[in-house]
Amino acid sequence: MNEQTLVLIKPDGLKKSLTGNVLTRLSETKLEIVAAKITRVSRKLAEEHYYQMRDKPFFEELIKYIRGELHERRKVMAMVYWGEGAINKVRELAGATNPEEADPVSIRGAYGRITTRGVYENVIHTSRNTEEAEREIKLWFAPEEIILDLYPTKTELRKEQKVSVWA
Ligand code: GDP
Repeated sequence: MNEQTLVLIKPDGLKKSLTGNVLTRLSETKLEIVAAKITRVSRKLAEEHYYQMRDKPFFEELIKYIRGELHERRKVMAMVYWGEGAINKVRELAGATNPEEADPVSIRGAYGRITTRGVYENVIHTSRNTEEAEREIKLWFAPEEIILDLYPTKTELRKEQKVSVWA
């Protein structure tokens, strides 16, 4: 079954110049990239993305981490991968959440670490299941940023909205 999954290259991955390595590893899956952007992560976006972790003792550090406050890189690279079994294929290549427990040849096993402050720097995020993929993709991308019609959309007339255009 074709499906879609959100992939984020987290700020540690960007700081360590791992974008190329991660994309090369992910290309082994033969999945298609159907959306991609470099984006800043607002506190609201970070908290919504990780709302299931809100009661964890490391939540504040996690929010700082994904917002780039620990790496002087206030951005992440966000992508949607699409194709047969996308969710599990990417999760398998990503490896376990804890980089020290991850298979050494997985992305997290090869490039992740646990810092002395206890932060799991695990290089990428990737959706856990279909429901999370839908929730996360809708959170990170607007419909027009994705080249496939992945989910139903509706049209809204937005009048008098200021938008930036090239001068
Ligand atoms: P994922 O789907 O593999 O990213 O794992 P989770 O959804 O369970 O956790 C989200 C993120 O929270 C992980 O990618 C880690 O960055 C962080 N995290 C999860 N568990 C721990 C933990 O026990 N300690 C710390 N410091 N961070 C964690």
